[in-house]
Amino acid sequence: MVDDERDGVRLTSLDAPLGDGLEVTKGDLVEHLDANAFRLVPQLAGRPLSVKRVRPGQEPFMQRNVAKGAPEWVRTVPVWSYGANREVHQVLCDDRRTLLWLANQRAVEFHVPFFVAGAEAEPTGIVLDLDPPEGADFGVVVQAAELVRRALADAGLAGAVKTSGSKGVHVVVPVRGVRPEDAAAATRALAARAAALDPDLATTAYIREDRHGRVFLDSTRSGSSTIVAAYSPRIRPGLPVSAPVAWEDLPSVRPGDVTVRTAPERLGDGDPWTA
Ligand code: ATP
Ligand code: MN
Repeated sequence: MVDDERDGVRLTSLDAPLGDGLEVTKGDLVEHLDANAFRLVPQLAGRPLSVKRVRPGQEPFMQRNVAKGAPEWVRTVPVWSYGANREVHQVLCDDRRTLLWLANQRAVEFHVPFFVAGAEAEPTGIVLDLDPPEGADFGVVVQAAELVRRALADAGLAGAVKTSGSKGVHVVVPVRGVRPEDAAAATRALAARAAALDPDLATTAYIREDRHGRVFLDSTRSGSSTIVAAYSPRIRPGLPVSAPVAWEDLPSVRPGDVTVRTAPERLGDGDPWTA
């Protein structure tokens, strides 16, 4: 088994499969996260982190509470979990060392909310999560994203778009100095306005049966819920990556284009997302 040490973090079994059916090694994950640490860590820093992990022979699992036996230098924040009805300690991934430590635990997906710990009432962004209908071509999601872009522009706003790395896209608008309830209301209003621009294409219907083959504009992911971070891989074959896209490039993008293996050539070396 190939081992390594970076930044004082021991990395083990790098040549082993990452998980069942994923077609990549643990080393592929480590290389991607390390190469993108400079633009992934700034998005994660200070935010209570949830990671989705894999292991060969096991189902992937979402983890909020810090793993047992974490080194003392891993920062955490206590958070009340209403689901588990107990306090959990969530990792704050503030540096490359912590990211590498997480990578060595086969943490693949990095999910964070739009606030930093200690400033829960100061949202840093809002998001519209665009989900395609079952079996649809990605092209309809692109068209729906254009509706969101127009609705934003009509309100004097601009957003950034990224693939989810899975099936849809996320349109994110940075905000500052906005109350959480106003951010939530703005998100709902933007989704409603975007859907109204082409009601045959997009819908805000929360009930699946009411969507009738249209793209769902989900406005409920702001606030305390999370969104997968840009540059995070997803637990799918080949490890596709949630990739920032320039609006003009969106029509030619497909979800599986950027994976941990193609990212070095496809993503460039800039940092449009955190700029
Ligand atoms: P897709 O393109 O397939 O929709 P997605 O990442 O947008 O991928 P969604 O199901 O639309 O997935 O959820 C949006 C976000 O909400 C996720 O990125 C994740 O951060 C959060 N989320 C969704 N389901 C869960 C869950 N069961 N546990 C924790 N977070 C979740
Ligand atoms: Mn989605």
